[in-house]
Amino acid sequence: MTKVEIPPEHPRAESLKIREKLIENYVKGVVASAGLIAHGRGEAFDYLLGERTTEPALKAIKAAAAALLTAERPVISVNGNTAALAAEDTVKLAKAADAKIEVNLFYRSIERETAIKRLLEKAGAAEVLGVGEDASARIPELTSERRRVDPRGILIADVVLVPLEDGDRTEALVRMGKKVIAIDLNPLSRTAQKASITIVDNVVRAMPKLVETVKKLKMESLDERRKILLQFDNHRNLAESLDIIRERLSKLAEEGKNVVFGK
Ligand code: ATP
Ligand code: MG
Repeated sequence: MTKVEIPPEHPRAESLKIREKLIENYVKGVVASAGLIAHGRGEAFDYLLGERTTEPALKAIKAAAAALLTAERPVISVNGNTAALAAEDTVKLAKAADAKIEVNLFYRSIERETAIKRLLEKAGAAEVLGVGEDASARIPELTSERRRVDPRGILIADVVLVPLEDGDRTEALVRMGKKVIAIDLNPLSRTAQKASITIVDNVVRAMPKLVETVKKLKMESLDERRKILLQFDNHRNLAESLDIIRERLSKLAEEGKNVVFGK
């Protein structure tokens, strides 16, 4: 595959680099074709949010860090897009929060699972659950291959971080009594609405911030972490993300109306 050169001064250089990374990993068999479509949907919302980590996202990151650190058996669920975009940060987060890493795919194949596992190991992961026969347990009521989970990981987890998850599975995990932390740029998706804590941000920006926040919060007391969790309201937080989009669009629309033609 020929590598596309992206000039650093290009106004959308960062977003184009991310696209190239996804395409590269699609060719390597890490990302599924549907993963490319999912990314496009995410990009559209990132555009509306202003491609930055917002205040509500920061609040959700703090709550997510508190949830991971108060968990007894936290697990990070990894799919193709997450592995392609945030393998190093996934490993750093697993170490900082003492969480397990499990591969979980909508479109399961041993080739893709193995490719993702290798990528994570290259990024420093000591253990990757959920590959091949290891995913021998089932999440009830789910029909896709995503219902297959590792009995040492997601099956017995109390907190599951699911960057870029599908709505059905988020709902199923919540019904199983798990606290679900989602990272999803679309505040309207079923995942965003059903998760216990939703970080409305790009996984590329949210993961490093989550790692840093976990490290900081580790110094605080258990009481402090519990207080953060009690104060967090996911529906209110999602509404604040929608407010940000609405206010931003109103401002841009007003600015557009004030442009004087011919000047
Ligand atoms: P749901 O099933 O939750 O209703 P959906 O069917 O609209 O969502 P899926 O394809 O199931 O979408 O999941 C992909 C989700 O991941 C989308 O909501 C999209 O906004 C989000 N997404 C894609 N790329 C990123 C990214 N880089 N960072 C954060 N979120 C992303
Ligand atoms: Mg979906």
